[in-house]
Amino acid sequence: MSLPLTVKRRSTVISFFIMNYNKIRRRKNLPAFRISGFKKMMAAAAAGALLLLIIIGYVSQCASQKKTAAAYAPTYEIYPEKEILPQRRIPEPKPLLPEVAIIIDDVGYDCQMGEAFLNLDKNITLSVFPHSPCRHEISRKAKIAGVEIMLHLPMEPIEYPAVNPGTGALLTAMTPEELVRQLERNLDSVPHIRGVNNHMGSRMTAMYPGMYQILSLVKKRNLFFVDSLTTEDSICRSCARLLQVPFAQRDVFIDHVQTSEFVRQQLLLLIRTAENYGEAIGIGHPHDVTYNMLQEMLPELKKKVRLVPASEVVHTGG
Ligand SMILES: [Zn+2]
Repeated sequence: MSLPLTVKRRSTVISFFIMNYNKIRRRKNLPAFRISGFKKMMAAAAAGALLLLIIIGYVSQCASQKKTAAAYAPTYEIYPEKEILPQRRIPEPKPLLPEVAIIIDDVGYDCQMGEAFLNLDKNITLSVFPHSPCRHEISRKAKIAGVEIMLHLPMEPIEYPAVNPGTGALLTAMTPEELVRQLERNLDSVPHIRGVNNHMGSRMTAMYPGMYQILSLVKKRNLFFVDSLTTEDSICRSCARLLQVPFAQRDVFIDHVQTSEFVRQQLLLLIRTAENYGEAIGIGHPHDVTYNMLQEMLPELKKKVRLVPASEVVHTGG
């Protein structure tokens, strides 16, 4: 029976040692060391098995070292490290007058009213509901007129479900996948948007995982976010700072009481806030009284402040 080459080689090595032992034995008169062919084969097999065990041990040691290294690898953020590095806003020269942005929310269901505000002043920003019937018409006309458009994003209020935030609402019960999918659909539904602000959202804007996801996508789309500030528990500012999303908070609601007197008083408060802090954001709605009071007060307002689109009063990392 012919043996495999490696076994033959090992048998030769063992024979060499036995031969040398026998030479020494003859000189020293020691007992003979005899080994049969079968025993030689067994010895070669044992040596082979030992060698195999050594190889297996070495390989498993390498594998366990690799495993340990993987366990210490850093967990990366959803966003590339570069995007969340602290950045400082490039200082801008101080404007001669304080800046005021006026955002008209809840646009998209009354085409005529939307167009009226659009023609009132090109620096008034319109925030349009997703999936609303007039969204395409208003966005198209706004682009031609140079008026800035935002998405007015419906979010769950504390009063939900008694109060429904509307079509496309983001709800706290949604899975992360559902939330992102709905937000993508909402962002896609209004053309030419530069930023987003929340409609309602007193519950959603206080929820950490949800707001982090929402602002991540806002960042990904290179949009800014204005917090309508419907709850004092809002975490929008800290999330926006963390994700380096251009951000601002609403200072004054202009027309939650729909009387000329009240709207006038709120517009004066908006001017004072801008004078105190250098800039301010007012939010109004497509009501007749808001339109009439803006039309009446804009000349006076423009003497004291500079009316600017919302994108000019948002800041990154603030
Ligand atoms: Zn709203």
